[in-house]
Amino acid sequence: MSAERLTVQQALDKFAEYEWYDNHKTEVIQSCHRKGYHHLIGPFGTPLAMRVGDAAKFGSCWHAGLAGYYERHNAQLVYEKRLVRSALRYNQEWQKQFAIANAQLQNRYKIARGMQQLLLYFDHFRNEDEFFEVIDSEVGFIYLVRPRPAELLFKPFIYVGTLDRVLRRQTMRDVVVGETKTCSGDPAMRLKEMRLDRQTQGYFKMLQSMDIDRVGGVVLDAAQITATKITNDVFCRDFVQLKDLDGEQWRLETIEIVEQWRHLRERARLFTGDNQRVLAVFDKRTKECTHYGLCPFYDMCLYGVTADTLAGHSPNLWHPLKENAEVITDAS
Ligand code: SF4
Repeated sequence: MSAERLTVQQALDKFAEYEWYDNHKTEVIQSCHRKGYHHLIGPFGTPLAMRVGDAAKFGSCWHAGLAGYYERHNAQLVYEKRLVRSALRYNQEWQKQFAIANAQLQNRYKIARGMQQLLLYFDHFRNEDEFFEVIDSEVGFIYLVRPRPAELLFKPFIYVGTLDRVLRRQTMRDVVVGETKTCSGDPAMRLKEMRLDRQTQGYFKMLQSMDIDRVGGVVLDAAQITATKITNDVFCRDFVQLKDLDGEQWRLETIEIVEQWRHLRERARLFTGDNQRVLAVFDKRTKECTHYGLCPFYDMCLYGVTADTLAGHSPNLWHPLKENAEVITDAS
C-alpha cells in the first residue's frame, strides 16, 4: 500500500481497529512502568493526564510561533510577513495556554520575552534557512506496524505523530525532516541527546514511509528558552544523516516496547481485583521521580491511591493528532 493523504477523521476511522502508540506513550512506558500504569491504564480504569507546567506551556507557545513562520504557505512570504504570521500563531497559543487558564496566577513567563526569543531565533538561522525549501509543515502521520512475512507474529498497531517540517535541502537535493526542541539547559547537550533519541530515527522512518525520494535524514534544532536567564549560544542546529538500517532498527525497537507493555498489561489482568498485585506488575523507577521536575504521580506512589491523592487529577484525553487537519498514512 502506498501513502495517502486523509482527513484526521477518515484516517482514524480507517485504523479504528488498531491500538495506537506515539513517541510520548513509548517514552512514558520506557521511563517508568508505574507511570505508564497511571497515565495509560489508570487506577480505576481511567488513564490520568500528566499535568503540564508553565515551562511546557511556554514551550507550546514557542512551537506555535515556529509553526507560523515555517508553515508551508507562509514560507513563500517575505521575511517581515513571516514574522507577523509567527507572532499571530504565538499570540493565539498564548491566549489558550495562559490568558484563559491562568488569569489569576502569577506567571513568570512573559508574552514579550517569548516573542523576543523567537525573533532572535529566526534572525540567527535566516541565512541558513535560505538553503532549505519548506515543502510541508505540521505533517500528521499514521504508520501501520504489522508483522512482515517470516517475522515473529505480533498484533499490529499504529504509530502516530506529527513532523514539524519537511524540507528540501538545496545543496544536496534530498528531503529531510526539520525538528525543533526547546530546552532550559545547554542546547548543545540537548542536541547530543536528540542525535541518539529514538524519536529522531522515527521521524526518518515516517518520512521514508511517505513515498518520498531521496530521504536524507533529520535537521535537529535545540533552542534554549527561559523565563529570565540571559545566556549566549542559545540555539544549536545540526544535521543527522540516517540510513535505511536506522529506520528498521527504530521499527524493531518500537515493536519490542509495545510487546513488553502488552505483556505487562496481560499479566496485570490476571490479578484483577487485587490492587497490590496489579501495582506490583508495574515496577517503579525511582530515578525518574524527579527527572523533569516532580513526577505528577508522586503522591500516589508515596501514599497510595486515595481520594486525596487522586484529587486534582483529570482523565487523559490527549491524542497526538487532535491539532492536525490531515494525515499521511502508510501501511508498508
Ligand atoms: S513517582 Fe516515580 S515511581 Fe512513581 S510513577 Fe512517577 S516516576 Fe514512577
